Amino acid sequence: SPILLWFRRDFRLSDHPALAEAARQGRPVIPVCILDEVVEGYGAAPKWRWGEAVAHFSKTLQALGSRLILRRGRALGVLQQLVQETGAGDVWWTRAYDPDAIARDTDVKSTLQGSDIVARSFPGLVLFEPWTVTTKAGGFFKVYSPMWRAVRGTDVPVPDPAPRSLMSPANWPVSDHLDTWALGAAMNRGAGVLAQFACVGEGRAHDRLTTFLAARVDDYAKNRDFPSMDATSRLSENLAWGEIGPRTIWHAGQRVLQEGRQGAEKFLKELVWREFAHHLIYHTPHIVTDNWRPEWDSFPWSEEEDVDVLRWKQGRTGIPLVDAAMRELYVTGTMHNRGRMIVGSYLTKHMMTHWRIGQRWFQDCLIDWDPAANAMGWQWVAGSGPDAAPYFRVFNPETQASKFDGDRTYINTFVAELSPQPSPQGLAFYQACPQGWALCPSDLYPNPVVELAEGRRRALDAYAARE
Ligand code: FAD
Repeated sequence: SPILLWFRRDFRLSDHPALAEAARQGRPVIPVCILDEVVEGYGAAPKWRWGEAVAHFSKTLQALGSRLILRRGRALGVLQQLVQETGAGDVWWTRAYDPDAIARDTDVKSTLQGSDIVARSFPGLVLFEPWTVTTKAGGFFKVYSPMWRAVRGTDVPVPDPAPRSLMSPANWPVSDHLDTWALGAAMNRGAGVLAQFACVGEGRAHDRLTTFLAARVDDYAKNRDFPSMDATSRLSENLAWGEIGPRTIWHAGQRVLQEGRQGAEKFLKELVWREFAHHLIYHTPHIVTDNWRPEWDSFPWSEEEDVDVLRWKQGRTGIPLVDAAMRELYVTGTMHNRGRMIVGSYLTKHMMTHWRIGQRWFQDCLIDWDPAANAMGWQWVAGSGPDAAPYFRVFNPETQASKFDGDRTYINTFVAELSPQPSPQGLAFYQACPQGWALCPSDLYPNPVVELAEGRRRALDAYAARE
């Protein structure tokens, strides 16, 4: 009987354990993708980017003589319907560890198994299953560095190659047309803007990895903090949609390291930060919604979406480095890691605004949105998370700008009204803004929402009062 292979955020052929096993079994395979209750909850840019991944992967499967069947509705109901239509005996997928996915998948698994369907989940999202990496005492790691030391020498399975062919079923079930899903509908900034910056598909993800390891990995540790430099891999976008697997990246990095190119170690360490985030979301799912450390619950963060928050979202806080990063996010769908830390610190410390507001905005804007990395990142910046930046470490955006954007290339690129020669990206921001934003004329740069010294003092006072 056929296997229904359910693709969610794992749009690749190689390094895909479930797909490799399905091809090995020599049974008909029906690849399926569902616009389900979890995807319906995605923010605007992730939803659009998910659709780009689906469109591309659909073509990839066609080239293999197969198809991607698209359906819309609650995952369980759609899968039950497809089982009935196709006579499939198995439903397989790649495991995910965030609470929304776990709730959906647990329901699917128990119901299908109750009707004698083999419901089977496979690894592939992370390097190590979250329950296999433990401290000496047997618990999960709450601090990153010991976790890195525990996993750095561990064997990671060699990734499976892409199957050369997949057996088709006797009859294909009908499929929705992707266009009818209108996945870009919520993008009032216009998908056309992000489309220039997105890098979609497995082939391009592999090219990114190859180019990075050939040209940039040696200077990665030195340059990775400079937002105007093209110094990092940018693979988070492809990892988020599973267009490349972490095992592939791990083995490629290890090979380069063995050639004596030490820069690769720092890169592999970053990949383990991703791992850390996924393990944390599995063991402590409240990281998505609540302070990871409950002692922060009494902290006087504002949760009001007021005009100051709107100015933060618009990149009009009056703090040039914060604004550059916020506009980079809006225009390109991504933001340099240093920018993420700086805008997060300004929001949660200078502006004393709850990290959840920032988390939600990133969830709406990022094309590399990942529920685990985003939650961990925000709680790290805010100070309420595991292994977090101490609250009293308030990033000073001016000092950060002189250290990491000394010649103001990054600020000039994204803040048109501060730049002697506005760049296409800087101007694109004005074209991308939704009408409701009512921006000031582009030659007027605003005064700070919160002055740096005052904001810092206020945050530290609140912190001291809490103790
Ligand atoms: P590289 O420097 O090339 O690193 C290689 C890979 O390591 C990345 O692709 C990523 O998968 C992983 N990685 C690197 N840094 C981190 C980190 N701090 N945490 C977890 N994984 C990491 N990353 C996301 O993928 N999705 C998110 O939604 C996300 N939200 C964030 C929110 C905040 C507030 C902060 C501070 C960080 C967030 N990050 C998120 C982490 C990080 O900023 C991005 O992974 C990184 O900028 C991606 O660029 P890159 O692929 O060039 O990374």
